[in-house]
Amino acid sequence: MYGGWRYHHPMTDAAIVSAESRLLIDGTFRDAADGATFGTHNPATGELLADVARAGREDVDAAVAAARGAFEGAWARTSPAKRARALNRLAQLLDERADELAILESRNNGKPRWQAVAEIKTAVATLELFAGAAQHLYGRSHVVNPSVLAYTLREPVGVCAAIIPWNYPLMMAAWKLAPALAAGNTVVLKPASATPLTALALGGLGLEAGIPAGVLNVVPGPGAEVGEALAGHPGVDKVAFTGETATGRRIAAVAADTLKRVSLELGGKSPNVVFADADLDAAMVGSLWAIYYSAGQSCEARSRLLVQDEAYERFAAAFTEKAAALRIGDPLADDTQVGSLISRAHASRVLGYVESAVDEGAELLTGGPVDGSLPDGLDAEAFVRPTVIGGVSNEMRIAQEEIFGPVVTIQRFGDEADAVRWANDVRYGLAATVWTGDGARGHRVAQRIRSGAVGINTPFVAFPGIPFGGFKESGYGREQALEALDLYTETKAVLVGTGPKAINPLGV
Ligand code: NAD
Repeated sequence: MYGGWRYHHPMTDAAIVSAESRLLIDGTFRDAADGATFGTHNPATGELLADVARAGREDVDAAVAAARGAFEGAWARTSPAKRARALNRLAQLLDERADELAILESRNNGKPRWQAVAEIKTAVATLELFAGAAQHLYGRSHVVNPSVLAYTLREPVGVCAAIIPWNYPLMMAAWKLAPALAAGNTVVLKPASATPLTALALGGLGLEAGIPAGVLNVVPGPGAEVGEALAGHPGVDKVAFTGETATGRRIAAVAADTLKRVSLELGGKSPNVVFADADLDAAMVGSLWAIYYSAGQSCEARSRLLVQDEAYERFAAAFTEKAAALRIGDPLADDTQVGSLISRAHASRVLGYVESAVDEGAELLTGGPVDGSLPDGLDAEAFVRPTVIGGVSNEMRIAQEEIFGPVVTIQRFGDEADAVRWANDVRYGLAATVWTGDGARGHRVAQRIRSGAVGINTPFVAFPGIPFGGFKESGYGREQALEALDLYTETKAVLVGTGPKAINPLGV
């Protein structure tokens, strides 16, 4: 398959997958122009996985030039059917290798392997969705008057920089590549420095799938250098970014100089509203998933539980007990429910929030640092126990800032108006969940919460085919559905004279 280093499963010592660690530019894997590399690690163990080529300015220029060449060369004019075939082949290759790629993802990110499998399957579905959509990218036609027929064309924007975070490395890459390539754009993908490996593997699979050289380039490297160079690059037409709100703001500013198209999928502080009339058992298990999946390192993590007075005591006690019982451990083990965080530094930042909450007068109901019960070989300092913080009020820092870890705050509310007010009282607006036995109330509250997605009696807020994106400081643009094609196309109007006579308004 694609060359590079091999790594070994710690338990079996058997080679599992060979993965690429060099830059992918113009259809070939190569070292950085200046030979620079950086280490990428398994955060759960601290083990060095690979030395990865570190792109610099020269490599960014080369990747953008390759993408421009491929765009103007043929890709933009390839038939939609051909682009769809390539995307479907990529989907199939990804599906066939989902298990081995999930191990790579789990080892580079620290998330449970079974979660990585589920995310790779979602990436497959996303590629298939946009392979189909490529063939339905229609314009409109309009008879302006008897002498003018107009129609519109949906044309690709050009060279797209896709800058993605570390929390769902392969899935986030697919969310951006699939609509971009379907619409005939070419891409320079910059994975997060912490998790470059599956993005590089995806680039290799793209070549295997017949995606032409230069159409998909992958350049790992530091955000402030490589990401920012892409965001400001005169050869880039559009930046698609997923990451923190502060980074998104910076990217929008840098991209403004050349008036690039920008779409931003940013942070969240999503509410999870439990009314007393809900099926409280269903609300509890759903709410556990909604915060502790991916160890809470999820943009749509429902990190603020709002529970109605009458149900509060019972719900908070049962939720806390279940959270404390979740199995933390080896991300490769099948029964692990919560893996490591992305790094020691991030775990310590998350624990800092827990400390600050207690300092502000909130109550730690369960969670905090791990207590030495982890299997040998795991780095306890990269893990955080599922944490529940009670006695929280909305103005506290813990209720306002994105923590991005396995930490949920739990607050009580009196009536529906309070619930809606507090749900909306943050600068973010990505997702929300409402649990209620009253159907009308579910829809009513869904309409009043200002976020890009609302689940009623389900913790799920993202599926291929359903638009995903933010209100407020959670960003702009929608991914995962047909709306995404608007982000990757320009509309061109073509006007045609159809009258029998010359058009001669000057009467000459
Ligand atoms: P981050 O903003 O630190 O980094 C994201 C990417 O941007 C990385 O590739 C990074 O190298 C790059 N980057 C950093 N500084 C840059 C700069 N100045 N210019 C250009 N690129 C730069 O985010 P993260 O820590 O990797 O990811 C976590 C964040 O992502 C959270 O805030 C989370 O909510 C958000 N997120 C949002 C969504 C969504 O769909 N809304 C999905 C997943 C994650």
